Amino acid sequence: MTDRAAPDIRTEVAILGGGLVGAALALALAKREIDVTVCDGLPLEHQLDDEFDGRAYAVALSSRRFLGHLGLWEQLAPNAQEIRDILVSDGRPGERASELNLHFDADEMGPAGYGHMVEDRFVRRALLEAARAAPGVRYLDSAPAELEDPDRTVGRVRPTEIRPVLRLADGRRIEADLVVGCDGRRSRVAEAIGAVRIRGDYDQIGLVCAIEHQKPHGGVAHELFLPSGPFAILPLTGNRCSLVWTERTAMARSYEHASDALYLSEIKRRIGGILGEISLAGKRWQYPLNTTVADRFVAPRVALVGDAARGMHPIAGQGANYGWRDAAALAEVVGDAAQRGEDIGALDVLRRYERWRRPDSLAISLATDGLNRLFSNDIGPVRWARRLGLAGFGKIGPLRRAAMKLAAGDLEHLPRSMRG
Ligand SMILES: Cc1cc2nc3c(=O)[nH]c(=O)nc-3n(C[C@H](O)[C@H](O)[C@H](O)COP(=O)(O)OP(=O)(O)OC[C@H]3O[C@@H](n4cnc5c(N)ncnc54)[C@H](O)[C@@H]3O)c2cc1C
Repeated sequence: MTDRAAPDIRTEVAILGGGLVGAALALALAKREIDVTVCDGLPLEHQLDDEFDGRAYAVALSSRRFLGHLGLWEQLAPNAQEIRDILVSDGRPGERASELNLHFDADEMGPAGYGHMVEDRFVRRALLEAARAAPGVRYLDSAPAELEDPDRTVGRVRPTEIRPVLRLADGRRIEADLVVGCDGRRSRVAEAIGAVRIRGDYDQIGLVCAIEHQKPHGGVAHELFLPSGPFAILPLTGNRCSLVWTERTAMARSYEHASDALYLSEIKRRIGGILGEISLAGKRWQYPLNTTVADRFVAPRVALVGDAARGMHPIAGQGANYGWRDAAALAEVVGDAAQRGEDIGALDVLRRYERWRRPDSLAISLATDGLNRLFSNDIGPVRWARRLGLAGFGKIGPLRRAAMKLAAGDLEHLPRSMRG
């Protein structure tokens, strides 16, 4: 065994990465009376700035319940727009969307509905401020860190008595029974445990912005499949929508410096007049898109959660939802293990989490990857086949309802904190 200096902080769970998923995990663990330390490399005031991130999230029903369990939904509700309908159609810029489309009506889901759109600035602030204030959570911001592994044993069989250590850039060391990597798609924790990532690259960028518009959106979310990729029009509170316009990388880069007028005219060419006159409501953003799934989610005393475990194409608006489902599942597994007096970092405990979350993750990553590839082209026969396929799918009630339940995260085997 290696001699080690005494740590500066001793904690039960150390979370590397305190974004949307890391902060939620910290809160869920604290509710199970587990002592947590979170470190995030960014200053808190930067993450809490309204202009930190331009995205808005489709928060599925199960995630809404989880945010409720964390005591946050009530404060988010006034800024959440219910999604009443989803209209999926195939089209081309400058042409009307095909009328052979697929329609999901939230009423079919019953009174609980399907989900809500919430802007990043609201959900991130709620989560980070709550994590910062929660008893039992130490939230360290401006604290880049890495998993210290002098023995190079983290990913291999590691004597259980050796606790993993996070080393902060300022030299402080945090020793934990369990380290969780919530550090995003380029997770250093995943790298440290030797996880190999299965990757899908698309040569696509998500152009994101919010618009104000003349006509009410009626709570309808549109997913338009255009040759360069899906174009999502997602209803926000008021007469505003969030747009996620998937574009080929070279073309997207060429729009980076385009004037707002040209940008808006390109948007109009794609969405037509469905919202009447439109104007930009805030900055324009770009997010490179890919899929990346770790071949393992756990190692002795280490687990991966959120995009660190699996980052997917945003075509189905599920990345954060899956991350929150990971967080709810891991908090349940670890909380129950602690209650039974088990070692929360033991590999057999962590494998329960991996068995629960990895198959689901692989399935959604493959599904979103396949959908994006099927719909991001302009091959005539394929276009017609998918138009007929969309319309046919929509006519088969059980299939349509199954797809809605999947998108709402209303599934079997949900963590307790996500059930109705
Ligand atoms: C265009 C677009 C639209 C999307 N829309 C939706 C949607 O509608 N619904 C949905 O559910 N999902 C959506 N997603 C996916 C969602 O944004 C992600 O799944 C989610 O943000 C992942 O959160 P995370 O906390 O796991 O990772 P990240 O957001 O990547 O956070 C990682 C955190 O770790 C910190 N960190 C990293 N390295 C270190 C280090 N060494 N030391 C300390 N800190 C570190 C970072 O500062 C950061 O705060 C969308 C994604 C895109 C690109």
